[in-house]
Amino acid sequence: MKITVLGSGSAYSDSHRFNSCYLVEASDDRFLLDCGSDALRALQNADVDPSSIQKIFITHMHADHCGGLPAVLTAMHVLGRKEPIEVYIPFTQLDFVSLWLDNFFIFNDRMSFKISLLPLAGGEIKLSDCVRLEFVQTNHLVKYMELSKAAGINPVSFSVVVREEGKKFFFSSDLDSLDEVKSHIRDSVSLIEATHPSLDEIAALAGERSGVLYFTHIPMELENDGEWRKKLSLEFGIQKLNLVQDGQVLTL
Ligand SMILES: [Zn+2]
Ligand SMILES: [Zn+2]
Repeated sequence: MKITVLGSGSAYSDSHRFNSCYLVEASDDRFLLDCGSDALRALQNADVDPSSIQKIFITHMHADHCGGLPAVLTAMHVLGRKEPIEVYIPFTQLDFVSLWLDNFFIFNDRMSFKISLLPLAGGEIKLSDCVRLEFVQTNHLVKYMELSKAAGINPVSFSVVVREEGKKFFFSSDLDSLDEVKSHIRDSVSLIEATHPSLDEIAALAGERSGVLYFTHIPMELENDGEWRKKLSLEFGIQKLNLVQDGQVLTL
């Protein structure tokens, strides 16, 4: 299994770190986890042909995870893609995304290829005999749930486990706390978001040294602030966190 980090940025992105986007290649399957707002540029930067992507999974409907979807689908059309694509959307917001894409003139009757929008819920999706995805519903920005309710929406977020013949890759996507995903981290190669959990939580997890741990969704302060590093070293005995870079490839 090969995971190419296309975008390791947080909600803020720049030319060094694009928004959330990861290309997973496992067996004959080739799919994106997330399609953040600058995903098309991220694909171009890593020399990935958008037409080669078979499926897209959106972990949650925040711009840094889904904002690039219309542009990527439009680019596929411009490139003359013929193969159909499946796009999985958090189930409570599937109707919204369908309407959203219609507003960009992304109609199946107009596009050069068929787009199937499918609901993403917790549970397993079998891609082939040897590749299975397990989506795990997680909490994310729960403190805004009242505002969401008042706006008439019910946002949901997912982490994902990718399994291929005994290999296990875990992507947390955005969380509130690391507690609810710890059980998946122990025996996986994991890519954990480093923006929403506290530094203490992140450091404690890194200090456990279980599984193979990489951090992504990197906030600026984690990259730049020497005080954080000092704290990591003094309080947790950790010299550095494995912060991934755009373009980095993880191989299992
Ligand atoms: Zn995010
Ligand atoms: Zn988010």
